[in-house]
Amino acid sequence: MKRFRAIRIDKDAAGHRAAYVDLTGADLMAGDVELDVTHSAINYKDGLAITGEGPVVRRFPMIPGVDLAGCVTRSAHEGFAPGDLVVAGGCGLGEAHYGGLSQRARVAGDWLLRLPDGLTAAQAMAIGTAGVTAMFCVMALERFGLGPDRGPVVVTGAAGGVGSVAVILLAQLGWRVAAVTGRLEESDYLHGLGADEIIDRAELSAPGKPLQTQRFAAGVDTVGSVTLANVLAQTQFDGAVAACGNAQGMDLPATVAPFILRGVALLGVESVRPRIGLRREAWARLARDLDRDKLAAMTQTIPFAEALERARQIVAGKVRGRLVVEIG
Ligand code: NDP
Repeated sequence: MKRFRAIRIDKDAAGHRAAYVDLTGADLMAGDVELDVTHSAINYKDGLAITGEGPVVRRFPMIPGVDLAGCVTRSAHEGFAPGDLVVAGGCGLGEAHYGGLSQRARVAGDWLLRLPDGLTAAQAMAIGTAGVTAMFCVMALERFGLGPDRGPVVVTGAAGGVGSVAVILLAQLGWRVAAVTGRLEESDYLHGLGADEIIDRAELSAPGKPLQTQRFAAGVDTVGSVTLANVLAQTQFDGAVAACGNAQGMDLPATVAPFILRGVALLGVESVRPRIGLRREAWARLARDLDRDKLAAMTQTIPFAEALERARQIVAGKVRGRLVVEIG
């Protein structure tokens, strides 16, 4: 049987470890579509899975990789045939089902979308789960009825993957964007993506009062914890914050004051469940609207051989924007 290369995470009496291994099709998990993976990406969640620093993986062994793009080689699913170019993200990939950091994958066809028109596989992975999550945050704010006429929007973890796409999307939609970063040396980068104002992460990362000066009409928060509590405390009357991440922490040491005294709303955003209709809408908007030059400016492309090392760096907050992995 033809062998292929993958990253495999094991956890047993010898401990938690991740390494490159050679596998065959017999090692893959069940699914009605097989594909040659051409591109994947490194998300924060992949970093947590590979380092073992967060409880991401729900069964061992596991092939990490929340995102994948590739070409269908076999299909028992009516929606796909050999030769189709497809993308997938979330849906338990890299957590409960073998993911994209592998030259081959076998997945449920119900998790797949055709590669959106106008995007290459590499561009689709530059967007990936981070981009879809950023778009879900934008859509959540829109569903709540907020628009750029209401005032500025704040994006936390702005130099990261989700944050960078959120800055681009919101700026393109006409919002005045305040980008929060711990890397002030990335100010030019963030201005280039469309940020109007740069805020030092330190201003928001220490505990503050339950209600603070109202600065923002809306927020996209990728870091959680004290930062999210402060963002809520600085959100204007009837504003909303879309919360999708936990890079600072899982906790939320906040009070109800912003909710009950300013009518502020906290909108939870997750991009794990398939919800294929919502995904299709997000991908269509991303493919149509996302500025390709800005997408390129926030993307680094690395060979598969570097994926393990870079996954460790993302957890240390040392990766800017998105990391695309060339698998094929
Ligand atoms: P990245 O690592 O690319 O970005 C995270 C950013 O958060 C960093 O770049 C850094 O931005 C900032 N950050 C890191 N550590 C801290 C800290 N201690 N305090 C404050 N800010 C910090 O990750 P992703 O963009 O891939 O993911 C962002 C978050 O969103 C993660 O928590 C991830 O798990 C979550 N996520 C959730 C999804 C969902 O379904 N809800 C889907 C996808 C991601 P800077 O350098 O600018 O300060």
